[in-house]
Amino acid sequence: MRRFDGDKLIIASHNAGKIREIGALLEPFGIEVTSSADYGLTEPDETEETFVGNARIKAHYTARETGLPALSDDSGIEVDALGGKPGVHTADWAETGNGRDFPIAMTKVWELLEEKDAPAPRTARFCATLCLAWPDGHDEIFEGKVDGQVVWPMRGTNGFGFDPVFLPDGETETFGEMDPAKKAPMSHRAVAFRKLVAGCFA
Ligand code: IMP
Repeated sequence: MRRFDGDKLIIASHNAGKIREIGALLEPFGIEVTSSADYGLTEPDETEETFVGNARIKAHYTARETGLPALSDDSGIEVDALGGKPGVHTADWAETGNGRDFPIAMTKVWELLEEKDAPAPRTARFCATLCLAWPDGHDEIFEGKVDGQVVWPMRGTNGFGFDPVFLPDGETETFGEMDPAKKAPMSHRAVAFRKLVAGCFA
């Protein structure tokens, strides 16, 4: 496992929600954190069918283009009654041709569950894969998950993406209702991040 010993790291993302959450997780480490947007980078096509594959594409592209270590996150929600969909295609389900609309994507998931008459609880999990890539082509991969269920109607305006319909196991609030400070340590991203810290920052 390669240690991160630099003082600058790029978050390989244009997603404001992810940048905010990863930036907050990195804060205690005294690293200067910027994102792909600060370098005017375009988003590479996510052509792989796994979280790991797409996380690698984003981190390596950003590290190559900037000459700095880059940290990417590829994530999504897997709904069991839909055979794991939308999974790696979670963001695609929100594409409208005119930007992303997550209420549309969440409605689509709920309607498919209703069509199938899927029994409750409609179990699901958020998955996140973090890839830390260096400009020389080396990388390290870390994965995290959080189990829960899809609920309806949408609840809460905190967070981003599918947060308003995701109720984590053992909780009464969706991620959309939850205080960000409460979501932060229990999220799929935080689980992967703790592994990254143990592996590369400790
Ligand atoms: P990608 O990793 O850029 O392919 O996008 C993953 C998508 O999954 C995001 O656009 C969100 O819709 C969704 N997602 C990932 N993590 C979260 C989360 O913590 N809360 C809500 N939605 C999430």
